[in-house]
Amino acid sequence: MLNNSWIEVNLDKVIDNLNQVKEFVGHTKVLGVVKANAYGLGAVETALVLEKADTDMLGVTTLWEGIQLREAGIALPILVFAPLLEEQMERAIQEDLTITISCFEHVFQLGSAANYVGKAVNVHLKVETGMGRTGISPKEVANVVEKITAHDNLTLEGIYTHFPKAIAKRTTEKQYELFNNTVENVRKLGYEQLWAHCCNSAATLLYPEMHMDMVRVGTLLYGQYPSGAPNTIDIKDPWSAKAKIIYLRRMPKGTGIGYGHEYVTKRDTYIGIIPLGFTDGFGLMPLTRAKSLTDLAKMLLKTILGYFGWSESQLKVHAGDYSYPVVGRIGMQLTMIDLGDKPDINVGDEVSIFLRRTMADNQLERRYSFKGSNVTSHSLNTS
Ligand SMILES: *Cc1c(COP(=O)(O)O)cnc(C)c1O
Repeated sequence: MLNNSWIEVNLDKVIDNLNQVKEFVGHTKVLGVVKANAYGLGAVETALVLEKADTDMLGVTTLWEGIQLREAGIALPILVFAPLLEEQMERAIQEDLTITISCFEHVFQLGSAANYVGKAVNVHLKVETGMGRTGISPKEVANVVEKITAHDNLTLEGIYTHFPKAIAKRTTEKQYELFNNTVENVRKLGYEQLWAHCCNSAATLLYPEMHMDMVRVGTLLYGQYPSGAPNTIDIKDPWSAKAKIIYLRRMPKGTGIGYGHEYVTKRDTYIGIIPLGFTDGFGLMPLTRAKSLTDLAKMLLKTILGYFGWSESQLKVHAGDYSYPVVGRIGMQLTMIDLGDKPDINVGDEVSIFLRRTMADNQLERRYSFKGSNVTSHSLNTS
């Protein structure tokens, strides 16, 4: 193998997770969210298997993500969540993408782009019910729908909203009520068949009564339980990051290890090297703010303990039954691990690594398996 660090993606588990979701939601449609490179798993490969497994629709954030799926041969309907700029609309129509209308201007812009291309386009209306990001205010929805109806080339297929904190029951119920009333009004304008949707993964598990016509799930497909949601369905993790030990050397007590000598060996020990670093996303965390004083105190305490070298390394790698701490500062592409005095591990051996999927660099090789065999986007597309 040419690469000594990679990610194994088990696409069978993604499909198992999809089937769990399908069973849980019954007749409700399922939109598989494959934005952000399918949360790191690989958008094309994931979309290809989701298509084979009869997902109803795919969701992406940007036009560019939608184009990449079309170029890979994906024929499923694809909803683009984010607002498009006027100059992007013709291309989006040519690619047969389903477009989100988030304001009045979008109706006129998209309507004239559709006339210019000479093709009808499916649209979903985004309603702002409390996310504080994008969408039409419920009061304006009827007006916007009227304008859409007047355009022969705009087909209103769906209507949706998004929850900023699904675990907050009261807030979400209020949002849902507002959305549901808005949907009822639009149905009365002659759109009985409209697909209404509001649930992400957390809301799908928490509020079955809010599933409506379709749910939009990402997190659950990729094997993680949204925090605060019940584990009512049994999902599995398709993701595992691996690397091989490429070097191993005994270091005497008192040796400074790596940049800044942030770690100094406390005893004679073997230090191993894996070819993975911060450029691969290793050791990176999303930026978070303390939400309470207790949070803040905990974060400060960790920082203080770390400064004095009192806290255990947060990151470990695993090999068989053993785990070994990452030591020193993680480099751009190399990381050191402390293997101890008599390591039961050699150059060339594999270790498992914790690598946050949405932080994993897209350059890092993904190795896919599906129906028990190794696959590529090419083999998935031709089978
Ligand atoms: C990302 C996203 C989702 C999926 O969220 P999960 O919590 O990962 O299921 C659903 N809808 C929209 C609009 C999104 O941007």
